[in-house]
Amino acid sequence: MKSKKLKITIVGAGITGLWQAFELAYRGHAVHLVEQTPTPFTSTASQLAGAMLAPYCEREGGDPIIQELGLRGLEIWKRMCPKVAANGTLVLAQPRDRGELLRFALRTSGHRRIDAAELVELEPDLGHRFTEGLLYPSEAHIEPGAAMALLLERVRRLGAEVTFGQTFHGSDGDYTIDCRGYAARKELVSLRGVRGERAIVQTPEIELRRTVRLLHPRFPLYIVPWGTGTYMLGATMIESEEAGPVTLRSALDLLGLAYALHPAFGEARLVSFDAGIRPAFADNIPKIVVRDRHIHVNGLYRHGFLLAPILAELVANYLEEGAKPYGLFGEPR
Ligand SMILES: Cc1cc2nc3c(=O)[nH]c(=O)nc-3n(C[C@H](O)[C@H](O)[C@H](O)COP(=O)(O)OP(=O)(O)OC[C@H]3O[C@@H](n4cnc5c(N)ncnc54)[C@H](O)[C@@H]3O)c2cc1C
Repeated sequence: MKSKKLKITIVGAGITGLWQAFELAYRGHAVHLVEQTPTPFTSTASQLAGAMLAPYCEREGGDPIIQELGLRGLEIWKRMCPKVAANGTLVLAQPRDRGELLRFALRTSGHRRIDAAELVELEPDLGHRFTEGLLYPSEAHIEPGAAMALLLERVRRLGAEVTFGQTFHGSDGDYTIDCRGYAARKELVSLRGVRGERAIVQTPEIELRRTVRLLHPRFPLYIVPWGTGTYMLGATMIESEEAGPVTLRSALDLLGLAYALHPAFGEARLVSFDAGIRPAFADNIPKIVVRDRHIHVNGLYRHGFLLAPILAELVANYLEEGAKPYGLFGEPR
């Protein structure tokens, strides 16, 4: 039996709202995407992401459900988006931090150990600086601005209405899908913010082909190559809802670890330092909160890019068939 076509308003054009709009418009529903900022992607947590699609690595500190859903999210990204860089993730540690590498290997799957010779083949610029590592060959990343622009273009091409520069005040459609991220904290009282800081640097002197995570006992760094010599260095995880500028300490940590990965980062141009707030619930697992005809999709924490495609599928299946799998539906605690 064909499902009824619905009139749906989606609030927020971060990565969560964009995927909801794409999936529902693709299935033939009448979608209106409403975003408060006049210029796309200027006030979102999403614009700050490294946009790593790393379900296996994220298992290290995350619940098994993140890996399970993340593997499906990764698969959807690879299928629909030609801009996904699917070269895997490399996890490294200095020889004195070898214990961190062993611990990371034990807590994750989907990897194989590589020695210095293979490292030279994979990443010639790093090969001689490290003696071993872990390769997660199926992981990927994407440049967040390019990914969001592509989704927006496809949403428009599918005939959805898109309005920027309008704050949502209610809708007369069948359903509202609320993807306002941290801005929904008044309605979702257990939503908290987790501050994240990052740096963008540019250097023609180093060429990395894949995301590199450098483990360190104090704070692990990752470097995502966005192409043409641009690298995102991230990211701090601070239990704070303060969105002010990057602190000196965080800047030192980010840049110091990049320098430890390769001293040539010392000559890189500093393009920007940015800070933002990740929306998260207490267990760091996203929730789909159905309150009559208003549905919140929120709490994507550090997995917004990884999980947004699969959350969009789940919401669309719920609207069409009433399915509520994975224990993601319900009021957050
Ligand atoms: C430094 C950093 C690095 C990260 N790295 C990664 C990573 O590598 N991989 C990954 O998967 N995730 C990563 N994340 C997490 C990811 O960015 C978030 O999970 C994701 O951005 C959450 O997206 P969202 O769409 O739910 O919220 P947001 O991106 O915050 O979007 C919410 C949107 O709603 C709009 N809005 C708010 N109120 C209204 C209103 N009343 N009317 C209309 N519009 C409104 C806002 O303007 C905004 O555009 C990272 C986050 C940070 C901060």
